[in-house]
Amino acid sequence: MAGIYSLSSTRGINGTNENIPVKRPKIIESGKITVVLGTQWGDEGKGKVVDLLCDSADVVCRCQGGNNAGHSVVVDGKEYFFHILPSGIVNPHCMAVIGNGVVIHLPNLFEEVEKNLKHGLPNWEKRLLISDRAHLVFDLHQTVDGLHESKRGKNLIGTTKKGIGPAYASKATRNGLRICDLMGNFDNFSEKFQNLVDHHKRMFPDLDVDVSAELQKYKELREKIRPMVTDTVCYLHKATKEGKNILIEGAQSTILDIDFGLYPYVTSSNCSVGGVCTGLGIPPCNVGNVFGVVKAYLTRVGKGGFPTELKEDLGQLLATRGGEIGVTTGRPRRCGWLDAVMLKFSHMVNGFTSLAITKLDILDVFDEIKIGVAYYLDGEKLETFPASDENLKRVEVEYKTFPGWRTNTEETRKFADLPREAQDYCKAIEDLVGVPVWWIGVGKARDSIIQVH
Ligand code: GDP
Repeated sequence: MAGIYSLSSTRGINGTNENIPVKRPKIIESGKITVVLGTQWGDEGKGKVVDLLCDSADVVCRCQGGNNAGHSVVVDGKEYFFHILPSGIVNPHCMAVIGNGVVIHLPNLFEEVEKNLKHGLPNWEKRLLISDRAHLVFDLHQTVDGLHESKRGKNLIGTTKKGIGPAYASKATRNGLRICDLMGNFDNFSEKFQNLVDHHKRMFPDLDVDVSAELQKYKELREKIRPMVTDTVCYLHKATKEGKNILIEGAQSTILDIDFGLYPYVTSSNCSVGGVCTGLGIPPCNVGNVFGVVKAYLTRVGKGGFPTELKEDLGQLLATRGGEIGVTTGRPRRCGWLDAVMLKFSHMVNGFTSLAITKLDILDVFDEIKIGVAYYLDGEKLETFPASDENLKRVEVEYKTFPGWRTNTEETRKFADLPREAQDYCKAIEDLVGVPVWWIGVGKARDSIIQVH
C-alpha cells in the first residue's frame, strides 16, 4: 500500500518513561480512517500536518464546521488559504470530501476556489465531492449571525459572522435546507427557502432578503455543483472497503467544541473525534489513528479565561514571532504558555494515538519556557479542565519551568539534532499528556518538520 510508514521504534521520544502508552501506530492504516484534530483553541497548524499526511492519503475529508475555519498550506513557496475546502485538494491525486456534518455557503465556496486557482488546483472539479446531506448556509444566516452578535452587547462570543451558528440552528430547528433539497424539485426548494426567510423575519422583522434574486442565484449554483454532489457516506464506505487511505481534517479544535469547549465561547459543531463519525457517517470502529496537533505554546482568539496568558512583552514576542493573527477574522490572538491541563482533557475526549507539536521554532529566542501543569481553584487542585469559563478565569496555575535553547531550530530535521533543551521540552509534553510525539514543526515551510523516530 502506497505511502504507509511504520516506525521501528515502539516508544515515544521519551524512551525512558514507562507511563507512556508506547505503541507507535502506522501513520495511515489501510481500511482505517486517520484523523487530525486540534487539541487547544485552534490555529495549531493542523493544515501542515494534514498536508504531510495527504502524501499518503487517497481521500481527504471535512466533517464539521463551515468556512469559519482557516487553514493555510505552503506548497512550493505558494501559500494556499482554505476555509471550507479540504486542504487535500492541493494534492492532484487526492479526492476531497465535504461531509454531511459541514454547513456550506456555496457562493463562498466558489470564491475560495477562485482565489486558490491562481496557484493551481489541477482537476479540482473532478476531485471535490459534496455530501447531499450537508446543510446550506445562506446570506440571511450570515446577516443573522451579525445581528445576534450585536444584540449580545458586552457578552460577545466572537463569531466569525460566516452564518455557521445560525445554519446549525436551522438544522436543529428542522427548517434548514440541504444540498439534496437544492438538487431536487426547485419549487419545493423555493417553498422551503421562503419558510426559512419567514422564520427569521419573525425574529428580525427588519431582515431584508430579496427572495427571488436569491433563488435565481441558487438555480445557477445547483447546476454548477451537481456533478460534485453524492452520497458521501456510501462513497466513504466503499473507499474504506477498497482499502483506500482516508484522512479527516478537523477544523477548529477540541476546546472550541460545542460540548467540550467553554460554552458559550465555542463553535457550533463537534470538532472532537465524535464529529468525525456523525459528520461523515463513519462507524467508530473504522477510526484508526487520531493525531492531536499541539502548538508549542497557546493562543486564544477573543475574550474569556486564559490561565497561562502572557500579557506583557513575552506575550507580544510570541504573537509577533508566531504571526498570531486570524486567517479568517484578521483578529490578533492572545498568547501564553502551553497548558498541559487542557491537553490532558483534550486527550481524554479524543484518545489521541500521536501528537504533532507545531511552531517549536517560535520558542527559539526565549531564556526560559513554562508549561502550566496543574490548576487550583479556591485552594483545591482540580482534577481536570473546568467546564465553565467563569471557573477557568479564577484558576491559579502551577508551572513547570524549562531552560530555553536560544538556538535557531528551523533547519533541524532530526530529533537528535535539536538542542538538548528543546528535546527535553518536547519530551515533557509527551510525558505530561501521555501520548507519543510523532512530528515536531520547526518552521512555516512544508518540509520544516522533524519526524521523530
Ligand atoms: P490551523 O487553523 O490549525 O489549520 O492552522 P494553520 O494550518 O492555518 O496554521 C497556522 C499558521 O502556522 C500557518 O501560517 C502555518 O504556516 C504556520 N505553521 C504551521 N506549523 C508551523 C511551524 O512548525 N512553525 C512555524 N513557524 N509556523 C508554522
